[in-house]
Amino acid sequence: MESQKQYKKKFSFEFFPPKTPEAVGKLQTTQAKLAEMNPDFFSVTFGAGGSTRDMTFETVMDIHAKTGIEAAPHISCIGNLNDEIKAILENYKDNGIKRIVALRGDLPSGAVGYGQLRYANELVEFIRQETGDHFHIEVAAYPEFHPQAPNAKTDIENFRKKVDAGANSAITQYFYNPFAYYRFVDNCEKLGVDIPIVAGVMPIINCTQLVRFSEGCGAEIPRWILKRLQEFGDDRVSIRKFGIDVTTELCEQLLTNDAPGLHFYTMNQSEASVAIWKNLGIDQRDS
Ligand code: FAD
Repeated sequence: MESQKQYKKKFSFEFFPPKTPEAVGKLQTTQAKLAEMNPDFFSVTFGAGGSTRDMTFETVMDIHAKTGIEAAPHISCIGNLNDEIKAILENYKDNGIKRIVALRGDLPSGAVGYGQLRYANELVEFIRQETGDHFHIEVAAYPEFHPQAPNAKTDIENFRKKVDAGANSAITQYFYNPFAYYRFVDNCEKLGVDIPIVAGVMPIINCTQLVRFSEGCGAEIPRWILKRLQEFGDDRVSIRKFGIDVTTELCEQLLTNDAPGLHFYTMNQSEASVAIWKNLGIDQRDS
């Protein structure tokens, strides 16, 4: 973790584009509450194959206009043609967006076309080729490894390809075992990777949802956490309290051990993220 000490810690919150008018209203309340924390930026996900393309754009512009805080769209290449990606990039550039989260994405079931760019390193290269240094490019990192990776070593080498292609910083998949993250970062350092690798944090709000997500993305829920969550059954209050305690402790350890910031997967809810943020005593007044 030695190289991570040099970076100023950055804090950010992630949303997904809302699908209904009620969800739009709810997200506006959430973003207003989280804006009070003065994060470094918000980010907004991009649906598989471009399915939320317009809503990602609208949400990003709305957040920026209403909160004054930087908003970064995610963009994924799988299932999109290069001309479509180019048009999206140009639109963001014309609208003053300067940070982007570049991903391969996952093909929705039943989709046939892969698009022209197969991996995120090719997308990063394409963004640099089309827009030079305009964007600060964030990429994804996997301390517990990407579910499709043939092995850990190859996955880290593939991560490095994104950095070599011009990524400026990375955000990890969420994890609950900090040692997986420390070791991942140390291995990246050994390969000469020299960008901030910010820890992705998933506040625990709902056990069923967490299990489903974790199965899909390859994040491990430690047995002791799962057992405790199962024990709470439908008792949402206890789940939230336990989840906030566990996630606060994880974040404390990460920050003490030089993680260069935290990126909260908010699930468009503010309560747990705000509670963890306050427990940590993060002070963003000067940022
Ligand atoms: P890549 O870095 O391309 O890696 C994918 C797999 O291919 C890995 O197994 C890797 O080892 C391998 N690989 C990579 N490069 C090569 C290469 N050159 N040759 C051979 N193999 C290679 N998904 C969405 O749909 N929308 C979002 O908005 C979104 N946001 C995310 C934000 C974060 C912070 C994270 C961590 C994930 C996000 N995802 C999102 C999920 C992500 O799209 C999936 O995890 C996807 O399966 C991989 O995307 P990637 O950019 O990490 O892919």
